[in-house]
Amino acid sequence: MSLRVVFVRRIIIISRVLDFCRRTFGTKTKATKAGHPKSKAAGKVTQTPRPAAGASLLPQVQRLSRDQHAISRKDISPNALKVLYRLKDAGFDAYLVGGCIRDLLLGIKPKDFDVVTNAKPEQVKQVFRNCRLIGRRFRLAHVVFGREVIEVATFRGHHSGSEDEDDTAPKLKTASLSDHGQILRDNVYGTIEEDAERRDFTINALYYSVNDFSVYDFANGIPAIAERKIELIGDPETRYREDPVRILRAIRFATKLNMHIAPATAAPIPQLAVMLKNIPPPRLFDELVKLLLAGKAFDNFMLMRDTRVLKQLLPQLDKLLKQEPEGKAFQLATKALQNTDARVDADKPVTPAFIFAALLWYPVELRSQTLVTDGLSEIDAMNIAMTEVLDDIQRTIAIPKRFTLAMRDIWALQSRLTKRAGRRAFKLLEQPKFRGAFDFLQLRAEAEGGSLIELAQWWERFQFADEPDRLQLINQLGKDGIDKGPRRRRTYKRKPTAGQ
Ligand code: ATP
Ligand code: MG
Repeated sequence: MSLRVVFVRRIIIISRVLDFCRRTFGTKTKATKAGHPKSKAAGKVTQTPRPAAGASLLPQVQRLSRDQHAISRKDISPNALKVLYRLKDAGFDAYLVGGCIRDLLLGIKPKDFDVVTNAKPEQVKQVFRNCRLIGRRFRLAHVVFGREVIEVATFRGHHSGSEDEDDTAPKLKTASLSDHGQILRDNVYGTIEEDAERRDFTINALYYSVNDFSVYDFANGIPAIAERKIELIGDPETRYREDPVRILRAIRFATKLNMHIAPATAAPIPQLAVMLKNIPPPRLFDELVKLLLAGKAFDNFMLMRDTRVLKQLLPQLDKLLKQEPEGKAFQLATKALQNTDARVDADKPVTPAFIFAALLWYPVELRSQTLVTDGLSEIDAMNIAMTEVLDDIQRTIAIPKRFTLAMRDIWALQSRLTKRAGRRAFKLLEQPKFRGAFDFLQLRAEAEGGSLIELAQWWERFQFADEPDRLQLINQLGKDGIDKGPRRRRTYKRKPTAGQ
């Protein structure tokens, strides 16, 4: 057993013992009947009693009454408000939580509104007809209003602990940690304080109640917002180990909110980035899409590169960047990502296919060139290279098939764009994939320069020319646009592997 595993196991045992002591000897802060944590007078920032010293990761909860914050009900999705009031009327506590409160306090339109409650998922389902339960790792209720989905989670409890007299007692059977300290299942219910402790960043442990329209700040998130600081709750290493995706979230929030990552939260990232390997590939794809398609792709890319995160997610590209930090792979990535950010800014559609095609183009091209040198035809080499690079990446990031098919189209058309003689250019123009392939060629031209610039300009003219001008453009090509015809095929022999 490695030293690290022993160390992590010790930490888990110690945290279980501490948790046991807390449960046995500590006093728990219960939610009041009014449905919010105990607080003193309304109208000023108030503090509620905390559990016994040392028992919680959190400072005293701060309450900001309605006149102390700028969140108005008209800024909140009417459907989210409906969910809060319905749960309240059914006798449950319910709060808006996390990113939506953070964003409203920052004056940003929230991406979504999340609700947290003391009702169990099954109880939530009984309150709403338009509700479905989802998730294994986190059991959640989705209340569906047409295209808007309000996610309703039950207060999370601690993932380690012993029997509890409470009705919301942790169920050890459903909560478990891996050897690396990663949370595997997390269907352990708890109190609002425990729920706040389980949130990732201090700026995300903010709760809003429709009982008194107050904001409850459990982790000094409001001062952190003022300081523009992304800071994990608790010990950063433990929190990253529990869920390495928090590394990606730290990066994403830093760029999205124009904040800095607190030094202690930033420090472990390069060393722990390797733990992203333990995340299921479909989840990593979702997180990468959030990083690359939300208007801050370039900044996120740079931060991922600097923190050794990119090496874990896109190792083929990272390798090229190490060989040539400012080379054409970097130039193409930069152009593609900046272009995507500009499109998001202008509300134009963007697709993961185009971005991933750009990020992986040079690994594909390089591999294809090697295979051509080995004697394969250009087409075969390209097909094999695309398959190899995509198979490789799928082990880390599960890019859905509809996107990998589109990536293959963009890549395969790059070599066809050089062959324009006879009717070829006309045929290519009719291809539904032409536009994407041409846009891609333009980016390559910007990144690489040289003959690609002329090629991209030729296609630009050809697209918008009338028939006679198009014919003239083709005639002017001379030898340049003439396909040299199929290469003589040589049999491709696999190199014998050791032992064969
Ligand atoms: P955005 O919606 O803008 O991406 P967000 O903070 O709302 O940001 P969500 O993924 O919607 O992010 O999550 C809602 C809340 O759930 C977060 O604010 C945070 O409190 C909590 N949360 C989400 N993911 C994690 C995680 N991996 N670990 C701990 N808490 C999390
Ligand atoms: Mg959110």
